[in-house]
Order: sequence, then structure tokens, then C-alpha cells
Amino acid sequence: MTLFSSRLRRIGTENAFKIGPYINEVAATGLKVIRCNLGEPDFPLPAHIRDEVKRQLDLDMTHYVDPQGLPALREAIAAEMGARRGLAITPDRVVVFPGGKPPIGFSQEIYCDPGDEVIYPSPGFPIYESFTGYLGLTPVPLHLDERRGFAFDGDDLAPLITPRTKLIILNFPSNPTGGVASQAQLESIAQVILAKAPADARIYADEIYENILFDGSVHHSIASLPGMAARTIIASGVSKSYSWTGGRIGWAVLPTAEEAAMFKTLNINYFSCTAGYNQLGAKLAIESPESRPVMERMVRAFQERRDVVVKALNAIEGVSCQVPKGAFYVFPNVGGLCERLGAVELYEALPADVRPRTSPATLLQMFLLFRYGVATLDRRAFGTIGAEGRHFLRISVATALDDLKEAMGRLDAASRDRAGFAAFVREGRRLS
Ligand code: PMP
Repeated sequence: MTLFSSRLRRIGTENAFKIGPYINEVAATGLKVIRCNLGEPDFPLPAHIRDEVKRQLDLDMTHYVDPQGLPALREAIAAEMGARRGLAITPDRVVVFPGGKPPIGFSQEIYCDPGDEVIYPSPGFPIYESFTGYLGLTPVPLHLDERRGFAFDGDDLAPLITPRTKLIILNFPSNPTGGVASQAQLESIAQVILAKAPADARIYADEIYENILFDGSVHHSIASLPGMAARTIIASGVSKSYSWTGGRIGWAVLPTAEEAAMFKTLNINYFSCTAGYNQLGAKLAIESPESRPVMERMVRAFQERRDVVVKALNAIEGVSCQVPKGAFYVFPNVGGLCERLGAVELYEALPADVRPRTSPATLLQMFLLFRYGVATLDRRAFGTIGAEGRHFLRISVATALDDLKEAMGRLDAASRDRAGFAAFVREGRRLS
């Protein structure tokens, strides 16, 4: 007998949160840490939304509410999501959750049995892969190629689809790469799904970054394409669009009311409902004309920072960085830098029991944090299966521009510190 279930031993985590204690440890030594690790806009909650939440608290919206989500919020979501995607969505197909995360695991619980296959992007949001382990499903990573802007098309997806495919997860704009599929790429993905995927396989379209797009581009959803709405779960929420990660409001639009009822049952089992005052704040956020200009200002700031950071990264020998089209992350290839610092040989010389828990990019990530006070995330934080030999970091640009400039300066200095890097790895205290 062991204390913990075998299921629990197979769950992953989100390292963006996990490295919090390391950051505190470094900060306690007096080194100012620049936090480029968290996927959280650094803007305040817009005042009109804040005021509405306060008003709802004063109106006593502090009790249990509908476990599927307040009807008024579900109506607002159905109208807005439908109008943007050219779809007719009814509120009985909408379910509200505490954040954008719960429907990811719930989809795997609701649609998949052990051994069923889940296709997901890699690098991708780590929770996609984490739940496959937890539930005994078969993970099928779709490896993204930086040379194609981390997007893909039907030809990349086709070989991964089998009769056991149950879920196909898409995430555009993407965390951690900022990749966005073009309309033509979405069309070819849809064609392959319609031709090859089992009829009851579901597409999980994680569109939580739908409003964070650069260079004037507009959001396209696979659900808008012919035949796709009937098989697609569209997920979004307030965390990124309204800079409201602490509000814990996310939602999913299900293909049918029957499927929505299953998500509602899991809501009842896990948390009963989501705070009513925040739900009504979310309704106002969606409906108020004041929201769009605030969002646009935020996106302009992300774009300006993206441009500064990508340029600075590409100026560092051994680093090459694509220009992301959306979200607020850059995902540089640091393969050359790992070579330059000797990270690959140092990694290979590590004891056999340490190596599976780390990688050359992980050593670089730790070095940057502990010696240079820059918190980033490594490639392994975004899916470990097949990540070997791929050397990347994720840098969030949801951090003030001056701090980002300082971070780039520190990264440049770190890139020249081969001796310091070797000493850090040999010390062996923080390797994963
Ligand atoms: N999906 C993706 C792709 C994300 O990046 C995130 C947050 N980092 C979520 C879902 C979860 O969002 P929330 O914080 O609202 O739970």
C-alpha cells in the first residue's frame, strides 16, 4: 500500500506556479527578480468591472448560484461568442467555471476512457498533457515547428488521428508560442478532422487568448467552419482578455445542451458553483462598450514589448526568436546558447537519475533565475513527451517594458558567462 494513488503519481503541474518558491528564495537574497514566468497581464482590473463586482457584493450576490453559471452571464456569453464566430449559440450550451482551466480536465474526464487518445499541441499549455497521465489516457503530442510560426495544418494532424482519437486540442493564439493558425490552416485542419476523426471525437478549441492578437489580425475559430460547430468545444474566459486572472471566471460552449449538462454535473461534484458577484462582473465586462478600448490599450502595450524583446533576443548570439502573432509570450530557440554555455555537455555529464528531471534549457532557466534574477520557463514546462533535444524558453511579455529591457540586458550578460554557468551546474543545488 502506498499513501497516494497511482493516478496521482502520473499528474503533472504548471511550472509557472511551481517556481514561485524559487523566486522567493532568490528575492530573499536581495536580488531583484524580473518575473517573466507567469501568464498574467500586469494591468489592473478595468475600473468599470471592478465597480460592478463591488456593486454586486453590496446587492448580496454572495450565495450559491446556478451550478451551470448564472443565466444572465450565459446569455451574454452565448450572444458574444456566437456573434464573433457567426454561430447561433443558446445559453443552455454554455457552462461557467472557476477559470479557463477546469474545462480542460473535465473534457478528458467526460469524453475519454483509459486508453483513449488525446491529441494536443506540444509545446502547449501543460495541463493538456498533465490530465492524460492522471486519467490513464494516451497522450499524442502534435509537435509544433518554429519555422512555421508554431502553427500547423491538416497534413501535420492527419497521421496522428486513429479510431481511438477522442479529443483534439487546439490552442490559437497559443501559450507558450504565440502561434496563430491562418484561416487556410484552420480549414485544412477541419477537413482532415471531418474526413478522418471518429464521429464522436471532440475538438477542444482553447481560445482564451482570442482577444490578444497583434499586427491588426482578427480571431478565427475552427468552430465557424462548416460542420465543425457540432463537434467543437469552444473555451474562453476573463483571465487574459480583461486582465482578471483572480476573478476565476471561464466558460465553455458545448456542441449540445446534453453535453453541457455533464459539465454542470462535474461542477456540482467539484465546487457547486462560481462566485455570483464575479459572474456578474464578467457579464458587464463582456457587454460594456468600455471594455474594448481598455483591451486594445493592453494589446498595444504587449505588441510594443514583444517587438523590443524579440529584437533584443535575436541580437544575442545563439538565440533565435520568431515573432509571435498573439498571446503575450515569446518562445526563443536557445539551442545555440545552450551550446555556447556548454549546457549540453554539462547536462550529459549529470548523474543518470538527475537527467530525466532536467534538460539543457532547464539548466539555463535555473541559471538565469538563481544567478541573474530573471524568471523564465523552459521547454519541458510545456509538455515533456518528445521534448528531448528541443531547447527553448518562454518569456512572458506581460511585464513592464523597463523590467523587460533590464531582463534582456541580464540575459545578454548571462549568455557570456560560461564559467559562471559551469560553476552553477557543478554546484548541483538547483538543476530541475
Ligand atoms: N488555457 C490556456 C492556453 C492558458 O494559457 C491558460 C492560463 N495560463 C488557461 C487555459 C487557464 O486560464 P485560467 O487562469 O482562467 O484558469
